[in-house]
Amino acid sequence: FDYAAPANEPVLSYAPGSPERAALKKQLAAFKAESADIPMYIGGKEVRTGKTVDLRPPHEHKHKLGHFHQGDASHINDAIAAALAAREKWANMDWEARAGIFLRAADLIATKYRYHMNATTMLGQSKNAFQAEIDSACELIDFLRWNVHYLSEIYRQQPVSAPGIHNRMEYRPLEGFVLAVTPFNFTAIGGNLPTSAAMCGNVVVWKPANTQVFAAEMFMKILIEAGLPDGVINLVYASGPLIGDICFANPHFAGIHFTGSTGVFQTMWKTIGENIHKYKTYPRIVGETGGKDFVLIHKSANVEIAATALARGAFEYQGQKCSAASRAYLPSNIAEAIKTKLVADLKTMKMGTTEDFSNFINAVIDERSFDKIAQYIDNAKKDPAAKIIAGGNYNKSEGYFIEPTVIETTDPKYVTMCEEIFGPVLTIHVYDAEKFEEIMEVLDHTSEYALTGAIIAQDRYAVELATRKLVNAAGNFYINDKPTGAVVGQQPFGGARASGTNDKAGSMLNLYRWLSARAIKETF
Ligand code: GLU
Repeated sequence: FDYAAPANEPVLSYAPGSPERAALKKQLAAFKAESADIPMYIGGKEVRTGKTVDLRPPHEHKHKLGHFHQGDASHINDAIAAALAAREKWANMDWEARAGIFLRAADLIATKYRYHMNATTMLGQSKNAFQAEIDSACELIDFLRWNVHYLSEIYRQQPVSAPGIHNRMEYRPLEGFVLAVTPFNFTAIGGNLPTSAAMCGNVVVWKPANTQVFAAEMFMKILIEAGLPDGVINLVYASGPLIGDICFANPHFAGIHFTGSTGVFQTMWKTIGENIHKYKTYPRIVGETGGKDFVLIHKSANVEIAATALARGAFEYQGQKCSAASRAYLPSNIAEAIKTKLVADLKTMKMGTTEDFSNFINAVIDERSFDKIAQYIDNAKKDPAAKIIAGGNYNKSEGYFIEPTVIETTDPKYVTMCEEIFGPVLTIHVYDAEKFEEIMEVLDHTSEYALTGAIIAQDRYAVELATRKLVNAAGNFYINDKPTGAVVGQQPFGGARASGTNDKAGSMLNLYRWLSARAIKETF
């Protein structure tokens, strides 16, 4: 069973007049007219508790899209029990049959539910059509297809045998259940974390962020239509700490697949450590936990490339990507030219709802986020070390809108150069163009994170120097490009330091974490 490397799913343009634009508009209108009643899925059954939480578009928070049913401790326990009950059959099912389910789910998205996936992401998470397309259609499809390919490569890795001896490796799933906790900002990550573990034969309890439930449940329905057996993935909505307390105290807890904040991940790790004597097997801990991603511009840089890397890298999806450019180092010789081009580019980015396809900037995810980001902007307005050179305005009366904001600071360690803001705020610092090595030293010791970064330079010596010097500063390093937009199969994604365990989503490295191998020797 050799699953060849797939082609990446083509990205549709949604250009005016295109059939895909009409189809997506129709689906958006249909979802807006309905009022969704979203259940949990435990052991293949839809579970409605009556304790509901409203879903509202971040860009139009007075509109109700529907609600989901919130679970309590009993539902989490039921989800674990359902997962464990499904485990034996699933783990022993032919790998090709398991793979077929995920390949079918990918095809269903590509051909039948593309607009459903994109519309739920646009309404629930306030992504524009293009950002939704590259996430909830293309990246999700790519994760499913590429993971099948990578897993088939892993299964083929076999030890050598010798005369009179036959050796083989059996790649078994973990002994227990895996907990997947997924963030609001990528529907594709929501889909990848439970399915990559499940594909390896594991059973899963999946808890999406409340603000991702609309798209997550749509994907769950697609998995069921594709033939996922009952109990293999159990989708529950409940408070994160409650889920953690229950799952991490269970002797069958075998691993966590997490994307979210560093603080939450560290608390989880600590709780798992405290409970370590309870488990049947050492749990796998895999997490991607944030970034403070840099764009380093060399004096030889092309001004256009530099400004575009900043405008797109910092402000696509309102900067709510772990990979978003949020601190930039501009060389004094071309700093003014880059700033002028950047500010001009930002003026062309329209802000508004996702249903109007001409808007590039939409709302940030919720009020808590909005308030936190606005606070950083307000503080910068008052600080003599900082100056707002673009944006700076915000308004939450209709939706959580914040203008793309650029802060310039004379202090390379100014607070917004160091802390993750997770919003449309870029901080820039102009350095002496002749002090490239010194600024790299500062850059490398400014933030605790190491997720993504970019070097913009035409001078190959500078590119080489930065690539070597910043070896631990970013798990994904981009040369003459923005630091966002990793494509599955092309740039496996993840970082180290406080950014995570660097088990590269969409790669063999990640899949190995969900397998427990048995080496078998037979003598004749
Ligand atoms: N993989 C995404 C990118 O390269 C970022 C994922 C995240 O925000 O966690 O832009």
